[in-house]
Amino acid sequence: MNERIYMSSPDVGELEEEAVLAAMRSGWIAPLGPDVDAFEAKLALRIGVAHGVALSSGTSALHLGLLTLGAKPGDVVVTSTMTFAATTNAIMYTGAEPYFIDCLPETGNMDPELLRRGLIRLAEEGRRVAAILPVDLLGKAADYTNILAIADEFEVPVLSDAAESLGATHKGTAAGSFGAASVFSFNGNKIMTTSGGGMLMTDDAEFADHVRYLATQARQPVVHYEHADVGYNYRMSNLLAALGRAQLSRLDEMIAKRRTVRNLYKELFSRIDGVEVFGVEGDEEDNVWLTAISIDESVTGFSPDKFASALARQNIESRPIWKPMHLQPVFSRFQGEISGVAEQLFRTNLTLPSGSALKPTQREFVLDKISAFIGGRK
Ligand SMILES: *Cc1c(COP(=O)(O)O)cnc(C)c1O
Repeated sequence: MNERIYMSSPDVGELEEEAVLAAMRSGWIAPLGPDVDAFEAKLALRIGVAHGVALSSGTSALHLGLLTLGAKPGDVVVTSTMTFAATTNAIMYTGAEPYFIDCLPETGNMDPELLRRGLIRLAEEGRRVAAILPVDLLGKAADYTNILAIADEFEVPVLSDAAESLGATHKGTAAGSFGAASVFSFNGNKIMTTSGGGMLMTDDAEFADHVRYLATQARQPVVHYEHADVGYNYRMSNLLAALGRAQLSRLDEMIAKRRTVRNLYKELFSRIDGVEVFGVEGDEEDNVWLTAISIDESVTGFSPDKFASALARQNIESRPIWKPMHLQPVFSRFQGEISGVAEQLFRTNLTLPSGSALKPTQREFVLDKISAFIGGRK
């Protein structure tokens, strides 16, 4: 049996090995150190924001971003239903309630009209909305043009979950630079990795300082240990920041490799009725983190499930896109503006091996097996 082919494996090599070893030999192991400072500065420069705060995960970055915006019990945070649970979990940690907004069928990103409807309803109910938390799905930035305009109108700050969209742009402006603050993830399956980590990006020095303060146990700036707030141990270690710096230097190369994979899928599926690559419109601006396909069973005669099982038999990983949050047992009691689009995408869409660590032979293998499955059914 061939080695298992994953959707998005870490893409690390000699450069990363050397960077981690050099950091270790420098004596700056943990918690902080010069690699953390340099990693923050480099990424902030690339994104075009003033500050980055390196943290232990994207989830912890979302948590501290929400706390800094004042999210607390009794408040509402308006967010995308089409996302990974981490987005909603971070809201739950603050004690605020999530309010779920359904998505646009073309992108899976937050539908601005439904956002507006939700904000009107919440205002009528007299609820305080602490933040709007849109998500950039699968490496495509949300519609910030409209989301930020609506947020302004209702005077609600935006925290952007850009965990999946590092390197993408929206109308030429970098993902991770929209709203009051944004969050990146460097989990092992993301576009670049620190093995586990995240960063909060903001133009606001006070915002960044507050996140740093909360992330280091909320220590007051005095020699004895003085604490006026509940703090967290959420900073990134220097060793992992060294890995991050090496990965960041290869980000464009890694995005280009993912784009090659995307284009191979586009070519293959252009010849297959009833299967479309998801979200291709405007994807030159995406980082193409994961490629998903939409399967119309009434045309293909096979279900997404059948297709996924055929790949699984070849030891190839694929999955449905995120199961919407409003359908999750843990979150189903919360309200929202639900149109059914996210649920539809969940039922028809599959994400496929898309990573930059895929070898050309593995890419060919996946394409061959897909062709064989579809050809064999005709
Ligand atoms: C990966 C991811 C996160 C969480 O990031 P971690 O670094 O794994 O904590 C948050 N939101 C979205 C949309 C993600 O895909």
